[in-house]
Amino acid sequence: MSKAVCPMCGAAIEAEFEELRVHDRIQCEECEAVIELLSLDPMRLEWVEEDEDDDFDLDEDDEDDDLF
Ligand SMILES: [Zn+2]
Repeated sequence: MSKAVCPMCGAAIEAEFEELRVHDRIQCEECEAVIELLSLDPMRLEWVEEDEDDDFDLDEDDEDDDLF
């Protein structure tokens, strides 16, 4: 069990970092920021600005047509 600090709100994040791999994503319980594990040694975390929908749906009839 390791501890890290949320790059967004500074809250301590507790996660099973030993079970994570680089580029795995965790979520801050305080600010719900999605944080990607960039490196384990030294531990580096980076906030990920995630899309509203994490799933890449095959049907692209999104309502947000103006995004692209
Ligand atoms: Zn946070």
